[in-house]
Amino acid sequence: MSGIYFHIPFCKTRCFYCDFHTSTDLNLVSPLMEAMMKELRMRQNYLDKDRHIQTIYFGGGTPSLLSPDQIGAMIQEVKNLFLVSDNVEVTVEANPDDLNRDYLKGLLRVGVNRLSMGVQSTSDCILKSMNRRHSVEDVFNAINNAVDIGLDNISIDLIYGVPGLSPQLWKTELESIIALPVDHISAYHLTYHKGTEYYRRLKKGTLTPVTEEDSLAHFDILTSVLDDAGFEQYEISNFCRNNKISNHNSAYWRSVAYLGIGPSAHSFDGINRQWNVSDNQEYINSVSSGDRFYEIEHLTNEDRYNDYIITSFRTKWGVCDQKLSEYGPLLREFFLRNVDSFVENGEVINQNGNWIMTKKGFIRSDLIIEKVFYYE
Ligand code: SF4
Repeated sequence: MSGIYFHIPFCKTRCFYCDFHTSTDLNLVSPLMEAMMKELRMRQNYLDKDRHIQTIYFGGGTPSLLSPDQIGAMIQEVKNLFLVSDNVEVTVEANPDDLNRDYLKGLLRVGVNRLSMGVQSTSDCILKSMNRRHSVEDVFNAINNAVDIGLDNISIDLIYGVPGLSPQLWKTELESIIALPVDHISAYHLTYHKGTEYYRRLKKGTLTPVTEEDSLAHFDILTSVLDDAGFEQYEISNFCRNNKISNHNSAYWRSVAYLGIGPSAHSFDGINRQWNVSDNQEYINSVSSGDRFYEIEHLTNEDRYNDYIITSFRTKWGVCDQKLSEYGPLLREFFLRNVDSFVENGEVINQNGNWIMTKKGFIRSDLIIEKVFYYE
């Protein structure tokens, strides 16, 4: 089973924390869609070992800037070129203010069955400070409309550790979220990425970051409020109830092959990593003229071990001994030697041959992963 990812690199405005490859120049939407269709056809043999598609994911950027017909055309082309599972998961990332009833009905009509909404906050003042273009009212309307028309597999993204977000306000936000018909939440701590407006303000000293204490309190509130509401933390930043895990993201974490289409999209065929140029015009020109538009990294056994550790150790399934053995006895012994102290102090447990981080371990996950990461 494999997945296909489409990167839609357009947004109406740029959020202050965002360093994704995206452009606010919407003039290139049509030629870029054409180039992406061409790339899809050119690379139909990329997933040669497993052409059976279990998930299709439209990320960005803002895929909800496309019309349902544009999205539908890409889904149809995947169906023309690959073996698509009957119960394929088709996700579209969307901005709440794009989701009126007609638009949602259009998505449903072309085969979309999961929404991933960039909600980020349920406080208008925080949304404004992030330069998000939607309001809290847009969020509630979008979710109600989606459920009403039958598009009820909804995930939302949230950001915490944001300047101005007190632990109490964060708790209030989460309480308003869990009351909604939403079964999946991805929640990430703010990172000050170079090149973002937040980063510039931090460097200029015009922004006050949250304290370390509040940061930890945010994570603690996140896990306890969601736990009480019946959400399972199946990955350090991902929570679901009613078993609504993201099949697409779970496949990444299990090192399943995937094909990424569009500027800056990454692909993995089980052996090598590949990524496309992060420039819309250059991507269009290169795809149209047949020039190379990607880089390839040939992964060593150690690289594949490291990739497996980084992705799997943050999930509830953890690091599997049997899988570890595939990287050879030396790397397996290296892992066992270095994970030992974390097992002793209760940050990692071994359950039926899987090393799994506990809640205590999740808080220090970066350090734990650093210790079992293999450096030449
Ligand atoms: S909408 Fe998403 S991709 Fe676009 S600028 Fe905001 S965070 Fe970045």
